[in-house]
Amino acid sequence: MEVCTIGGFEQVGKNMTAVKVKDDVIIFDAGIYLPAIIEIQEEESHERIYNEKDLRRIGALPDDLVLDKYGWTNKVKAIVIGHAHLDHLGALPYLVHRYPQAEIIATPFTMAVLDEILESEKIVVKNRRRIVKEDSTYVLNGSSGQIKMEFIHATHSTLQCVFIAMHTSEGTFFYALDFKFDNYPIIGDPPRYNKLRELGRKGIKVLVLDALYSKLERKTPSERIARNMVEDAISSVRDRNAAFIVTTFSSHISRLKSIVDFGKKTGRQIIFVGRSLYKYTNAAIKVGQCPFKKDIAMMKYRKQVDSFLGKVEKNRGKYLIVCTGHQAEPGSILDRIVKDETPLKLREGDNIVFCSSVIPDPVNINARERMDKRLRKKGVRIQTDVHVSGHGAREDMRDLVNMLKPEHVIPAHGSLQQETPLIELVGELGYKFGETSHLSPNGKILRFD
Ligand SMILES: [Zn+2]
Repeated sequence: MEVCTIGGFEQVGKNMTAVKVKDDVIIFDAGIYLPAIIEIQEEESHERIYNEKDLRRIGALPDDLVLDKYGWTNKVKAIVIGHAHLDHLGALPYLVHRYPQAEIIATPFTMAVLDEILESEKIVVKNRRRIVKEDSTYVLNGSSGQIKMEFIHATHSTLQCVFIAMHTSEGTFFYALDFKFDNYPIIGDPPRYNKLRELGRKGIKVLVLDALYSKLERKTPSERIARNMVEDAISSVRDRNAAFIVTTFSSHISRLKSIVDFGKKTGRQIIFVGRSLYKYTNAAIKVGQCPFKKDIAMMKYRKQVDSFLGKVEKNRGKYLIVCTGHQAEPGSILDRIVKDETPLKLREGDNIVFCSSVIPDPVNINARERMDKRLRKKGVRIQTDVHVSGHGAREDMRDLVNMLKPEHVIPAHGSLQQETPLIELVGELGYKFGETSHLSPNGKILRFD
């Protein structure tokens, strides 16, 4: 078994891993590097259509051209997408044409989000598709034998996320990006601990593991905790004449549910604003996973959004605005509001609740600092970090490794800064660096006999 660490092994983003067993190559994820194109999710201007060449030039795509060098490209039989986040899915539309024989495999929600992206970016993808449910199995007929893939429900921060166990003639490869162990999820079931233990007993050869918060000595709290924080934050906005904006991750349907549930109690009308929120919410509606669809209205296009924000300016107490832009992405709705580029002019006593934390990347950190400075000048009340991460921390990782007992561990989803603490952790569990735990830069091949 050979593993090519294509992308996401030197940064947080552009996740992509390829596994070769005899003459078959399976790709796991094809994510985009968001900081390179932080504005891609927004905005309503339809002129901005990205193309592969530009995205490659700015380093936004994983460098899958290395597969040409290794002679793997024509052997790719499938591209499996573990969940719908753009750092796992967002590059697929731009590079999948290189693999015409490959099936795209994903859960219904992930596939629906892919369709939303393809539609808005006006990209046509002809590859065959296989929609797989959580906790299902799919057998792929490779040119050198059957490859059985198991899609195991994983708890994270969007809908229908899966771990993937790929059983091959050369052993089982396990792909664990992204997850946390959430025993009290707001939508969906708790983790499948028994299944994971069972797979561990049967034997795992290689585990590629989400290392993002491996330095944090804790278990990441449940989304239920975030729900309590949302309730508290929303209930503390009492001024009936002030504007009220909540911003969060557009893909976080559970979080949006909490915002809507407690937002309803304010008596304000809840309006989702922006294309990105529209895409994910619409995908959730399409697969029957949007419990709050009757409680909201959505505004998608810039004209519509600006005319709505004009109404808010005159009647600030009537609405609860839910929008993206929590990372202060240039061109996002929140960025435009804060910079007075819309008819809504924020003033003293208005409220912004950030149901998010700043993604630890210098681009995001600097952008948020600039935004917060502007907000402070206006006297806007800010509640920030009303959030619990969807990524596990050190104890989540310890639990997963203990259950799966893989022969080899490869940390992913970050640079050395994120990956080294995971090497230390598995060292405590008996793994030897360079023998059974491995660090690999982007674009290299690791071989396992
Ligand atoms: Zn994710």
